[in-house]
Amino acid sequence: MTILDSEAPAVLIGDLDDTSRAGDERALLASLPTGILIDGVWRASSDGSTFAVTDPSNGLTLLEIADATPEDGEAALAAAHTAQREWARTAPRERAEILRRAFDLVTARADDFALLMTMEMGKPLAEARGEVAYGAEFLRWFSEEASRVSGRYATAPDGKSRLLVTKRPVGPSLFITPWNFPLAMATRKIAPAIAAGCTMVLKPAALTPLTSLLFATVLQEAGLPAGVLNIVQTTRAGAVTGPLIRDPRLKKLSFTGSTGVGTRLIADAAQQVLRVSMELGGNAPLIVFEDADLDQAVEGAMLAKLRNGGEACTAANRLIVHESVLEDFTARLVERMQAHTVARGTAPASKIGPLVDEGTRAKVHELVSDAVAAGATVALGGRAVPGPGWFYEPTVLTGLPADARILHEEIFGPVAPIISFSSEQQAIELANDTDFGLVAYAFTKDLARGLRLSEELDVGMFGLNTGIVSNPAAPFGGVKQSGLGREGGFEGIDEYLETRYVGIADPFAGGAA
Ligand code: NAP
Repeated sequence: MTILDSEAPAVLIGDLDDTSRAGDERALLASLPTGILIDGVWRASSDGSTFAVTDPSNGLTLLEIADATPEDGEAALAAAHTAQREWARTAPRERAEILRRAFDLVTARADDFALLMTMEMGKPLAEARGEVAYGAEFLRWFSEEASRVSGRYATAPDGKSRLLVTKRPVGPSLFITPWNFPLAMATRKIAPAIAAGCTMVLKPAALTPLTSLLFATVLQEAGLPAGVLNIVQTTRAGAVTGPLIRDPRLKKLSFTGSTGVGTRLIADAAQQVLRVSMELGGNAPLIVFEDADLDQAVEGAMLAKLRNGGEACTAANRLIVHESVLEDFTARLVERMQAHTVARGTAPASKIGPLVDEGTRAKVHELVSDAVAAGATVALGGRAVPGPGWFYEPTVLTGLPADARILHEEIFGPVAPIISFSSEQQAIELANDTDFGLVAYAFTKDLARGLRLSEELDVGMFGLNTGIVSNPAAPFGGVKQSGLGREGGFEGIDEYLETRYVGIADPFAGGAA
């Protein structure tokens, strides 16, 4: 346990060793499958290789699991391809009921899912429970959507033919997911694909694959047929997924992750004109106007900045505050962030867990150091926490020059850079000054201004007087380099449906009967 001086945030890090790992953690790990899942069977990888999944709060190994090879990836796609035809013919109601049972099972096992996510990803247990509720909700939402897929039958405008339009499952889909929301990023893709009648290959992030393995056992228990979902966790992401993306049996790629990897995958997918959905990086502005309810704005900033320790694509990356409330807002934010306890996510006091790995923490510190070198002032934090694990102090930076890297790159850590503005137009220009366009937040009591912002900000999502927008019933996604397509909402299932049009000769052409 380490306690830093009183100027710094309260820090209490984890020092767990293997022998002291709590019994419930050991039992949960022991209950997990360790293989890859192909055609309903858990198997070793084709070359017998394995890799270790570690706990970011102390660097200790949680579990050794199979490390899929390109041959395993091929077998997974073959299984998905073989299962596709029959799966597409199942009744929508049957698919809906599998999803609904999965929702009930995940909810019943919420504590296990939460603990596992905390162990492999680091987030505090309370946040992990929040993710279980959010992630499970996609199962319930799409169980309700499964039987609402419809088409249309119409008379052509010239009256000489009939138009029949139907929706069909797009077919075998490859999902590549990130480590920051191990359950929700998977269910946001898997649930609509099941609802639409698509089979799948999932490649979860190598840092956090265990949640997907547990989730697969739940889907099996819920009655998902063999071959519909195949899982190939691997440390060889490009080597395993590249051949699949170039394989004509694959009909869809849905990726959530960084813009850098996403753009390369789009280029690969272009070779066979593969349909893609891309949920990529963000650089969210959070604007606080002079008329904002400051309590609400600070609360919103805490949520938008510190949810998931700042390791969220929706994280507020730039706090843009009107000059008249800058001092007050900054003081309140510093006070709130300072009170956050940094600790292993299983500690009841934990409000911020470790960052996911050494590289992520090094990148965060590099951005902070660069800002300080460029003239920024550290109002709080600004240091990596010594000791085991990848902890970083909640940090507030002020006085940043406009070209500081931290204002233009995704931080992915508990660091809040604050800049000021003097007019609404300037705030909009600052907010839009980025290649990303996932989400923006604004706090104002002026509804007309809120509506103007909703039209002027170049984003896929906008939070008005709220620091959280994610909702399974709403279309999640971005514009510009934040991605293509939407997940959740009525729109989410469309990513897994193809439109087919049938032209039909005028049934009266030969004369009415
Ligand atoms: P990442 O490095 O892009 O990795 C995402 C996934 O892509 C992982 O499964 C990764 O596998 C895989 N991958 C990496 N290189 C690949 C390649 N050459 N070919 C195929 N797959 C490859 O992103 P991350 O660090 O996991 O996640 C953080 C990023 O995700 C941030 O930019 C964040 O904004 C974004 N994100 C976006 C959303 C959204 O909805 N817009 C949601 C969450 C996160 P390995 O695990 O083996 O590296």
